[in-house]
Parts: sequence; C-alpha cells; structure tokens
Amino acid sequence: SAKAEGRARYKFFNQELTKTVRARLEIEAELRHAIQNNELLVYYQPQYDTSSNTIVGAEALVRWAHPSKGLIPPIYFIPVAEATGLISAIGNWVLNSACQQCATWFAQGLRDFTLAVNLSPYQFLHGDIEQNVAATTAKTGFPAQHLELEITEGTLMDREIDAIKIFTALRARGVRIAIDDFGTGYSSLAYLKRFPLDALKIDRGFISDLPDDSDDAAITLAIIAMAHSLKLNVLAEGVETEAQLNFLQEASCDFYQGYLKSPAISAQDFEQLLKAEKRL
Ligand code: C2E
Ligand code: MG
Ligand code: MG
Ligand code: MG
Repeated sequence: SAKAEGRARYKFFNQELTKTVRARLEIEAELRHAIQNNELLVYYQPQYDTSSNTIVGAEALVRWAHPSKGLIPPIYFIPVAEATGLISAIGNWVLNSACQQCATWFAQGLRDFTLAVNLSPYQFLHGDIEQNVAATTAKTGFPAQHLELEITEGTLMDREIDAIKIFTALRARGVRIAIDDFGTGYSSLAYLKRFPLDALKIDRGFISDLPDDSDDAAITLAIIAMAHSLKLNVLAEGVETEAQLNFLQEASCDFYQGYLKSPAISAQDFEQLLKAEKRL
C-alpha cells in the first residue's frame, strides 16, 4: 500500500540520515584529533602574472594528511568544519602556518610574493579576524602588505557580518581583500561599490570553456573590464590550457592560477619553484 511504501521510504530516509549524521560526527571527532596531532598541512598553489608568467603569489590550501586514508582534500572536511565551528581553529592554524612559512622564505630571499589565505564566513562571525591577523603578522614577522584574504560572495551577503568595518580595519593594516569564486554567488554587483576590496578571482566555472563558449567569453571580458574600471586586480582561477591563457592575455587579465602551470603543491615543492625562478 501507499502507506507501507511511505513508511519504508521514511525508514530508508531515516537510516540514510543517521548514516550521514554518524559520518559527520566521525569526521568531526577525527578532525579534532587531527588538529591536535598536527595532521593538517598547507599546500601552495602558485599564482602567475599573465603577461610575464612569473610567480606573483601563492594561495594557501589546506590538506589533511590522514594516517590511514592518505592526503584528504578540503572538500571532504571543510564543510564539516564549517558546520561545527572547527573551521576557526583550522583557519587560524592555516593563517599562522602559512605566514610562518612565507616569512621564512622571505628571510631567505625567496620573497615579495603575495600570500593568499581563504577565510570562511564562520571566522568572520565568530572570530576576531582583525586581532588574529594582527597577532599572526606580529608573531611571524610576515608583512601584512603581502597578505591577501579570500572571501566568497556569501560572506558579503551575510547581514550579520559587518564586512565593511572588518575590511576597513584590515586594509588599514595593509592587508588586501579578494573575492573568491566571483560570479557564483548572489551576483549582486552593488557590493562592488559598497565594500572596500582589492581583487576579484573569476570562478573556474567561467574559465573552463574558454575560448569557445561565447557566453563565458563575454562574461569573463565583462568581469575584467569592470574590475579594472573599479581599480581592482583580477585573477582567473582554474586555467588549464594554453588557449585559455592566450584568451586571458589578450583580455588583459592581471593574474592567473591553474593546472596549466601548477596544482597546489607541498611547501617543499613550492620552495623549489621559487628557487628555479632564481629569486634567491
Ligand atoms: P578555492 O579557494 O576556490 O580554491 C581553488 C580550488 O581549485 C583548489 O581546490 C585548487 O586546488 C583547485 N584548482 C586550482 N587550479 C585548478 C585547475 O586548473 N583545475 C581544477 N579543476 N581545479 C583547480 P582545493 O585545494 O581542493 O580546495 C577547495 C576549496 O576548499 C577552496 O576553494 C576553498 O574554498 C576551500 N579551502 C581550502 N583551504 C581552505 C582554508 O584554509 N580555509 C577555508 N576556509 N577554506 C579552504
Ligand atoms: Mg580561494
Ligand atoms: Mg576559488
Ligand atoms: Mg571554491
């Protein structure tokens, strides 16, 4: 009967839900353990100047070196970390660790690139970002002028976050603010005028079908033109082919990152890249 079928479906749904909740709780417990046991790692993805093809920055991307499961990408634990608030501990750890590492490189003469660090909305709501950044740059000696914080459009749209106040305070310290995954959020362009920003990162979704997809090409050109007239830098994410890079060069996009040049790599490998560029 329909009723029995409904009950069966409910039972199935309930079991699935329990499984999901249990999986989440398991990840949460393991993640707490991971933070305490130094199982997190920062990988670095180089960012390039579009016209000179030299390294101008590095995005810090967290990885979890799980003792039995291997290197786990953030997609598997950042959402849980977000939902449980663990993201504050992880985010602060990433900020500290990356600033420490980059300060060491700068001291060795491998210097003057921008370090980009991702911030989650939770960190804005529940943590004192400005205080954390001030403490971290003071402790590590990493210059705030070389630090860029990446936030998504959702953070700007969250009414509980006074982003204008926080960005203003951070920028007064020299820190730059970039909008990550630009174009995938609510796409309210009003905030480009309202918020004190420094850079836009065009989401990979607009880049992947360049140069053939004429809609994506039009959108990319429009974002670059808009960014430049608002005096913002613009970086293309997820550049995988020479054809995409050629398009971006002709379009005067400032910077890019992507598998064409390099995925996110270990600190050791990134150091080799910097040395190969003869920055030392
Ligand atoms: P994101 O900040 O937009 O980072 C870019 C993602 O695209 C990275 O994935 C990077 O490895 C990947 N990527 C770069 N180039 C290419 C390419 O050419 N093709 C393709 N297909 N992918 C490319 P990853 O490292 O897995 O990170 C995923 C997301 O996890 C990040 O997206 C960011 O939202 C989040 N995340 C990573 N680290 C942190 C962190 O420390 N804090 C916070 N709050 N979020 C983080
Ligand atoms: Mg990012
Ligand atoms: Mg992104
Ligand atoms: Mg993303």
